[in-house]
Amino acid sequence: MNYKTNIDYRKETLIKLLNNVIIHENEIIQALYDDFKKPAFEAVLTETNYVISELKDTIKNIHRWAKPKKVFPSILNFPSTDYLYKEPYGKVLVIAPWNYPYQLALCPLVSAVAAGNQVVLKPSELTPKTSAILAKIIAKTFHINHVEVIEGGVDVSQNLLSQRWDYIFFTGSVPVGKIVAKSAAVNLTPITLELGGKNPCIVDETAHLKLAAKRIVWGKFINAGQTCIAPDYILVKKEIKDQFVHYLKNEITAAYGNKPQDSPDFARIVNSKNWNRLASMIEPEKVIFGGDTDEANCYIAPTLIDESNLDSLIMKDEIFGPLLPILSYESEADIHVIVSKYEKPLSLYVFTTNNSFAKNIIQTYSFGGGCINDTIVHFSNKRLPFGGVGHSGIGAYHGSLSFDVFSHKKGIVKKANWLDLTMRYAPYNNKLVTIKKLLKWM
Ligand code: NAD
Repeated sequence: MNYKTNIDYRKETLIKLLNNVIIHENEIIQALYDDFKKPAFEAVLTETNYVISELKDTIKNIHRWAKPKKVFPSILNFPSTDYLYKEPYGKVLVIAPWNYPYQLALCPLVSAVAAGNQVVLKPSELTPKTSAILAKIIAKTFHINHVEVIEGGVDVSQNLLSQRWDYIFFTGSVPVGKIVAKSAAVNLTPITLELGGKNPCIVDETAHLKLAAKRIVWGKFINAGQTCIAPDYILVKKEIKDQFVHYLKNEITAAYGNKPQDSPDFARIVNSKNWNRLASMIEPEKVIFGGDTDEANCYIAPTLIDESNLDSLIMKDEIFGPLLPILSYESEADIHVIVSKYEKPLSLYVFTTNNSFAKNIIQTYSFGGGCINDTIVHFSNKRLPFGGVGHSGIGAYHGSLSFDVFSHKKGIVKKANWLDLTMRYAPYNNKLVTIKKLLKWM
């Protein structure tokens, strides 16, 4: 078992993993439903198919990604051939969240394995059925000394963090991200932190309003709003606010019917702790659509909230649920006051047909990634890096970049012996004038 240097072995284990995730796909879909009623359609689109596609892409490209790459040499080293070698970090810890508990656990694991690492995965304890399937699939696929799942809650996570790792890949909340960063600092362990934030969704008066409403409703209420890149709040131009709210209401009804609680397409809040956190954000007098709650079933309806107070509870931190505050703006200065009040978000969305407005928003604000005229779909392009900036995260992954995340890059100069220019060697005597002239031209 030499996963460190044997790329064929890594590929074989990934093929085995692919077969096992396909065999167990229905069980996974069921587990996701049992954990928080994730609809089967969403489970396939955002979890199982995503993992299968990531595995196929990695299996197809692993040899190309792992190969040492020639880079253009420096003239200072003439004659040489220069290379970039990728080596696995060693022992990698992956800590996963509960909201996409399958995909966000397996995708980093796949890339860490592809890059030749030994991996320990700690899934979220809040989605126990999915965690159990993950443990079963991994135990069936890998030797325990190569890849292992350690299930458990905060104490297990803290125990793992107290050990020495060569890389830590964490997906979760900002406060826990800080705990991970502190633990990693003890051994100077490199980290990726995939965190969250308050994602603005700006809609101007030139936007295709009906389509914008449809795309925002989909991106906000998929997974019952429990998506790190879901729009957190809407900032709509004041003169079109009423019309836009009308379209949003229509789109919610079109998607989930008059009684979303009966819709098979709407997930539940993961547990009563999160249900209570979200329920406490609802101020009934501000609700303009939805607002129904059912604690026994961890249900909160898709809800629109007319908000103007940045100090209200809902505008304090990331919402992470099916509550959508709608704020309005009159000028770009108003947008600036609101967006700049928060830490750099993981995503930002702008709906407009005015290209210079879109360009200005994209260039003015710092955020992880986003879309013009859509929500959350930037996640699906493997050629785009996915990750936050500032408080929304450190590092990015997806596609070939994920392989690089889990690889240390070694720069190697292979010097030829047929020529040895003497300029660099002491004694320097009066070479200073010549070297200055030469360096000027290089
Ligand atoms: P969380 O931070 O509470 O938990 C994530 C993981 O950390 C879990 O495995 C948990 O067991 C562990 N953990 C929790 N508390 C800990 C502690 N004190 N010490 C050590 N480990 C601890 O996050 P969550 O509730 O599972 O997920 C929701 C958050 O994750 C949201 O903020 C969301 O934006 C973010 N998220 C980010 C991404 C992304 O890709 N950037 C994706 C999904 C979720």
